[in-house]
Amino acid sequence: MKKTIGIIGGGPAGMSCALWLKYLGFAPIIIEKKQQLGGLQQVSNFKNVYFLGLYGKTGYEIAEEFRQHIQVEEIPALLGSQVRSIVKNGDDFQIFTEAKEITAQGLVIATGQRIKGYEAIKSIEGSHELLSSQEIFFDPGTTPLLTPQMNDKIVAIVGGGDNGLLTAIYFSETAKHIHLFVPSQMLGLKVNQKIIYEKIEAGKITLHQPTIIQRFEVRENQIYMTFKDGEKPEEKLAFDSLCFRIGFAPNIEDIVQIFNEGKLGNIQRSQKGHIFTDEFLRTSIPQIYAAGDVANPRDPCVATALAQGAIAARSIQEDF
Ligand SMILES: Cc1cc2nc3c(=O)[nH]c(=O)nc-3n(C[C@H](O)[C@H](O)[C@H](O)COP(=O)(O)OP(=O)(O)OC[C@H]3O[C@@H](n4cnc5c(N)ncnc54)[C@H](O)[C@@H]3O)c2cc1C
Repeated sequence: MKKTIGIIGGGPAGMSCALWLKYLGFAPIIIEKKQQLGGLQQVSNFKNVYFLGLYGKTGYEIAEEFRQHIQVEEIPALLGSQVRSIVKNGDDFQIFTEAKEITAQGLVIATGQRIKGYEAIKSIEGSHELLSSQEIFFDPGTTPLLTPQMNDKIVAIVGGGDNGLLTAIYFSETAKHIHLFVPSQMLGLKVNQKIIYEKIEAGKITLHQPTIIQRFEVRENQIYMTFKDGEKPEEKLAFDSLCFRIGFAPNIEDIVQIFNEGKLGNIQRSQKGHIFTDEFLRTSIPQIYAAGDVANPRDPCVATALAQGAIAARSIQEDF
């Protein structure tokens, strides 16, 4: 009988792992908490340039292509389903979801990352006022890009990673002016930093760095932000729109709790919570593997997630 591998998370890494496992002679089953497979690509309206062969497709379209492939392969997926508990029974894992009990010989964690949202700024004075505004954007996938919505607006962007820099670059094409607030170091790719500095030279972007945000106020369709740049005196500016690009956090807390409750062992993680693996994606717990962004904070993208799905599957074949 084929060995069953439970894959928690149905983004690119989980789907790729399932596909490879199928052709390596296993019976994969994907457990996905959302109603659809696709992961973060499902919330992205960015047009692909990096992923070979799917030029110009949006994240939504890429997610759809991946989903169709999994469907054609008839790989089972429990959608809208979350693991409630896992216990070890000899060499097997008993995985309990709301709807189903699965006996599996191996587990792959492919739960990805989430976009940091309101919880990351809620300690700042006045932050609760932002929730009443239609002009606050946390999720890069749903922020209007190059649409008339940003025309002639003064836009503030908070964040110094690639998401922050790219948003500033996109919006600078149509917005009246961009204020880019970088809390400490600029972390985005050098190529993106270079474009930002060109836009600063051209007078399209003002850079605030290092900056500490002290207060928010929302009045008459304007968002007021009080901040302090380095040693400069405190300043207050008004914006039409405010976008937060403050990074990602691994989706792992509930899994760790389930592992602890099931006494499965201690899964080693980085300070920020990402799973540590060996180079072939074995975690610190035997028979448990990790793939994609949840274990790869350095290079999170579709190509690496797909590749890691394949590598984890091949490690499973080697180990079983
Ligand atoms: C706006 C945006 C634009 C992007 N643009 C690009 C791009 O142009 N090119 C590129 O290469 N990459 C891009 N990325 C990054 C890319 O989408 C990710 O690197 C990739 O999706 C990671 O795949 P993954 O499978 O590791 O994780 P994810 O895609 O995050 O998938 C993880 C899945 O696990 C599920 N899950 C989480 N916890 C649980 C749980 N407890 N139980 C069950 N299921 C769970 C989630 O619902 C999700 O479906 C972009 C990301 C964003 C947000």
